[in-house]
Amino acid sequence: MEIKVLEKTDVNARLLIQGVDVSYVNALRRVITSEVPCMAIDDVVILENSSIIQDETIAHRLGLVPLKTDLDSYNLPEDCQCKSEFGCNLCRVTLTLDAQAKEGTRSVYSGELISENKDVVPVSDKIPIAKLAKEQELRLEAYARLGKGKNHAKWQPVSMCSYKYYPKITVSSKRCDACGKCVEICPRKVLTKAENKIDVRDVMACTICQDCVQACPQVPKAMEVGWEERAFIFGLESTGVLSPERTIMEAVKILDRQLKEFESKVKVKKSEES
Ligand code: SF4
Ligand code: SF4
Ligand SMILES: [Zn+2]
Repeated sequence: MEIKVLEKTDVNARLLIQGVDVSYVNALRRVITSEVPCMAIDDVVILENSSIIQDETIAHRLGLVPLKTDLDSYNLPEDCQCKSEFGCNLCRVTLTLDAQAKEGTRSVYSGELISENKDVVPVSDKIPIAKLAKEQELRLEAYARLGKGKNHAKWQPVSMCSYKYYPKITVSSKRCDACGKCVEICPRKVLTKAENKIDVRDVMACTICQDCVQACPQVPKAMEVGWEERAFIFGLESTGVLSPERTIMEAVKILDRQLKEFESKVKVKKSEES
């Protein structure tokens, strides 16, 4: 397998993965969305809520606030040695909120949550939680835990994760008369006319929609659009809880562990049969 980083920012990554089949990249995508753990608020104790928003709605909103995750310092609750429903310092982070509207109506934002761990805080300070009228108050304690996207979408470390086949565009120099119809129709501006021939300007922008092939007046067609069998463009957008690199590395580790476990179970089954 060969991997080339096409683009990387703090929240986005786009990779060219070659030498694997579709089942591998799809497994990687599924592990990222459902198995890579991250932190989210899971329990809330409302101490005072005189706003017009119900306690359940506030708890739901708090659960959806993405929290920066420190995967190295915390255990998944099911793997933690405390085996306690309430958790311990190794599997739980407490955040508190104490907001009052003394002057007049105001909004309460995620930035007002105070975490006991400075590394586990909301990704954004500007997520609205409630609105308070004058003299209303919201006081609560929230408990965040590591969890997995397969149990609740609030534990998904990505807002998008997808792949597509690497496009393959061929233009026959014998049949093409450089009429330019394919260039005009392409919605992604993949093709360009250079003197008397058609060039592929940006193959990765191609969505394999086939519009250009249909627009070609030649019989048989002067161009073909297909895809490489073992090459994929893989993209993900993090919610900000984990970096894209860490998310991918964790997914590869988990997938590797799951495959080893599968292999050992197949071996046991085989030895039982023989
Ligand atoms: S298949 Fe669609 S996106 Fe790709 S080059 Fe043709 S028209 Fe453009
Ligand atoms: S539409 Fe067909 S003939 Fe015209 S430029 Fe494109 S490939 Fe060539
Ligand atoms: Zn614990």
